[in-house]
Amino acid sequence: MIAALRFAFAALVAVGEGLLWALLALRILGQGTRHLADGRKALGAGALTCPAGHEVDLAGFHECSACGFVSDEPGAALFCPNPYCEAPVAPYVTCECGRSVVNPAARVVP
Ligand SMILES: [Zn+2]
Ligand SMILES: [Zn+2]
Repeated sequence: MIAALRFAFAALVAVGEGLLWALLALRILGQGTRHLADGRKALGAGALTCPAGHEVDLAGFHECSACGFVSDEPGAALFCPNPYCEAPVAPYVTCECGRSVVNPAARVVP
């Protein structure tokens, strides 16, 4: 009887742990997609603004700082279109004046 109870308790703990991990994975996924959405919103809103007030031009050719992939697809400055890229979200883009501007989609998750 006690052995059965112990088994039931162990099973309960295992299920609870599994649920916790699933929740954690979901939360990480949710944060990832929210950041992507933030970035696309910034993109859709027209542009990023550099500290000196310039509008950062996101059109034209961009080279991914992580994998070196070069593309002129819309948004390529913020998101590398290479499906094999290990860091597809650029941490920052560089304004024509030389200043770096943080990519709103790349905010660091603590
Ligand atoms: Zn890349
Ligand atoms: Zn600038």
